[in-house]
Amino acid sequence: MAEEPFDVVVIGAGPGGYVAAIRAAQLGLKTALVEKRETLGGTCLNVGCIPSKALLQSSHLFEEANHTFADHGIKSGKMTVDVAAMMKRKDSVVGDTVKGIDFLMNKNKITVVTGTGTITAADEVSVAAGKGKKKQVLKTENIIIASGSDVAPLPGVDIDEKQIVSSTGALTLSKVPKTMVVIGAGVIGLEMGSVWRRLGAKVTVVEFLDCVFPGMDGEISKQAQRIFGKQGIEFKLSTKVTGAKKTKDGVTLSMESVDGKSKETMQADVVLVAIGRRPYIEGLGLDKVGVEVTDRGFVKVDGDYQTNVPGIFAIGDTIGGAMLAHKAEEEGYVCAELIAGQSGHIDYNAIPGVVYTWPEVAGVGKTEEQLKEDGVEYKVGKFPFSANARARANNDTDGFVKILSDKTTDRILGVHIIGPEAGDLIQEAVVAMEFGASAEDLARTSHGHPGLSEAVKEAALGAYDKALHI
Ligand code: FAD
Ligand code: NAD
Repeated sequence: MAEEPFDVVVIGAGPGGYVAAIRAAQLGLKTALVEKRETLGGTCLNVGCIPSKALLQSSHLFEEANHTFADHGIKSGKMTVDVAAMMKRKDSVVGDTVKGIDFLMNKNKITVVTGTGTITAADEVSVAAGKGKKKQVLKTENIIIASGSDVAPLPGVDIDEKQIVSSTGALTLSKVPKTMVVIGAGVIGLEMGSVWRRLGAKVTVVEFLDCVFPGMDGEISKQAQRIFGKQGIEFKLSTKVTGAKKTKDGVTLSMESVDGKSKETMQADVVLVAIGRRPYIEGLGLDKVGVEVTDRGFVKVDGDYQTNVPGIFAIGDTIGGAMLAHKAEEEGYVCAELIAGQSGHIDYNAIPGVVYTWPEVAGVGKTEEQLKEDGVEYKVGKFPFSANARARANNDTDGFVKILSDKTTDRILGVHIIGPEAGDLIQEAVVAMEFGASAEDLARTSHGHPGLSEAVKEAALGAYDKALHI
């Protein structure tokens, strides 16, 4: 291509990459986006956030219809599931969403190049020739690596996406397995485990550590295990899977307790491996241009997303930290601004995490365990949804809101919620924390009645002084 060079070439069209491209174009930079998938949107839109939430919603409705409609006086026969129709709806949600990204690229006059991008020099990205396509060489002032992440494999448990699946296979099963073993009690394990349990599978979750959602606030993690257990998920904690044998009828998993004292085998129709994700940097040619990576394969960047090679930046899952779509988006936005000579900043302490099970689980800021470890003196305010009028009216009373605030200054340090719509409720805590609010600020903010968010107000009242309605 003898064209004028680009100002920015972004490699990877996930939430990090496509947002970086939009922001760069908005700021007047000539921008190209290289993506090896046929569709834009990355892991999140194609095989992550969006399809999983579509299936979570469908399976939630099925569970409500079968188990809670009767409590509301709504009677119907036993509901059945048409898995093919459910998958078709999910695929059409994904299809429409990825088409939306095409629209945004056109609107912002971003050049989209399909193919695997390799950095051939600090100012050059080559895009491999594909079926019927010529190799392209894109000259550019800046490169943003946004190549995302991939499933972390488990030695001895080989993923075939049929009997032993990753999240990608778990999003496309053609029928409800009678039994499913999920390896890993993290976000994917409990979201996808919930989907298939609701649809009728007997789900067992095997976790190496002694709790579900390790890293979350301890009380929330305990409550989550209790609620999911009540819903029918069985947990085998402090257990490691040592091997898997595929047979005609399913998979036989070998397991042993972490202390090595007991061993057992377990049979399952389908095994889901969900033990985390690792950075994806294959094919980028990083060693050739000398971009440094950590010993775990993450691209090394400084506080401005700059790698050790001037003009090459990296964002999103590929640089580590919370592997979340909205974290990647924030980084894409700020990285483009920094390249354009503006200033930008992310408060990583105010990035929320949400698990879209039912009840939902959400948190932002410090956990109680982290505050203890840091030697911070704190106050706790807690309010259960069982005392919230809207939750009672909705018949959705599992869970609570927990607010942690500084004992001296009253500043909010962390908010953790398990309960209905926790993923949306957490957002007011995020805004409060971004503005450096105190528990009293939140407690004295009027909340519409009857609303689930009143539980947040009450927890803030509890942290600052005393809750009213308990
Ligand atoms: P990605 O979305 O992984 O995008 C990277 C893109 O780069 C990919 O499309 C890839 O094909 C492309 N690429 C890689 N190498 C090259 C190359 N050399 N040339 C060209 N293209 C290349 N996060 C949330 O916040 N909320 C959720 O609800 C949520 N649900 C999830 C559910 C599942 C099942 C999974 C697996 C993940 C989920 N995540 C969720 C995590 C979220 O998907 C990721 O954090 C997010 O996609 C990271 O964005 P990214 O832009 O860094 O990378
Ligand atoms: P995760 O890190 O959330 O959970 C992995 C779990 O597997 C942990 O509990 C870990 O202790 C356990 N584990 C690790 N090795 C094990 C082993 N050998 N045997 C048994 N257990 C083992 O990872 P995930 O659930 O795979 O999700 C991957 C990433 O995708 C996460 O970083 C998450 O942020 C992102 N994601 C986010 C959402 C969301 O935001 N709603 C949804 C899905 C995925």
